[in-house]
Amino acid sequence: MRAVRHSAEGIEVVQVPDVAPNLESEIISVRSASICGSDLHLLQFGALPFTLGHEFAGITSTGRAVAIDPNVPCGTCDQCRGSASNRCRTATNRILGIGADGGMADLISVRKSALIDLPTSLRLEDACLVEPLGVATHGMRQAQLVGGERVGVVGAGSIGLAAVAAARPLASEVGLAARHEHQQAAGERLGAKVAQGEYDVVIECAGTSSALERATEMCRPGGLVLFLSTLWDSVPIPGFTAMAKELGFRWSFTYGEHEHGTDLKDSAQLLSDNPEIAETLITHRFGIDEAREAFRVASDRKSGSIKVVIEP
Ligand SMILES: [Zn+2]
Ligand SMILES: [Zn+2]
Repeated sequence: MRAVRHSAEGIEVVQVPDVAPNLESEIISVRSASICGSDLHLLQFGALPFTLGHEFAGITSTGRAVAIDPNVPCGTCDQCRGSASNRCRTATNRILGIGADGGMADLISVRKSALIDLPTSLRLEDACLVEPLGVATHGMRQAQLVGGERVGVVGAGSIGLAAVAAARPLASEVGLAARHEHQQAAGERLGAKVAQGEYDVVIECAGTSSALERATEMCRPGGLVLFLSTLWDSVPIPGFTAMAKELGFRWSFTYGEHEHGTDLKDSAQLLSDNPEIAETLITHRFGIDEAREAFRVASDRKSGSIKVVIEP
């Protein structure tokens, strides 16, 4: 079968042995896999010994349409037992597509408990977005939105736009601070306005010091700044403003379970109820044989790409 790997020569589509079935897992025939900023970051580490892809969806051997939770929590540490498996103490090097074989392949074997059944109206071609949008539905829970808040979003890459989509049903208004015009237009299609004035909660989705400065400025006194971006490095906090406003700072990492379900199920429902989310976020599609070009487009800031999808 075909799989997308990163070798010393760059992105390649290689032949790997077919995955073998076992009792605890299901073989998924992958239908869509999207490229994430984390994938592009991983490439900096050179050749990788596993198949890429942690955002993917497909179909089981019995015809179930599913999205996949790529996390592989241990199930036994205090965080896993405390219903916070996204904070598992040992899971990060087992995440599919980050430390183990991922979904940019014809087939993948995944544990049965990782499968998320899709609402019937959600297309498999779009269901790779369940994972990145799940990051945003979890973020709304971490921000403890009760409804009616003014929510600001700084940064309008795919996570910023996913934050807009997840905040929109809860917030009285979503204000977006985007760097590029095409991103602002995409945000407006999802119901955001141009950021103006103060916000109760500001979602930081760029991971840069200038974005954090902007988020701190936009937040009202006593408000909350939520980090939804992936911070690979230390970022300086604008200390005086944050102190004088007594701001709260909170982090959000991947997605997890809650009283009434899971963030990924919520994400699948949100995508199904709002087809404009996938229409707006997915800007490019490529067959798996064109994976190298797909990665080139995803990493080219001038391409206007938001989410680039690979279809095996
Ligand atoms: Zn991702
Ligand atoms: Zn654990």
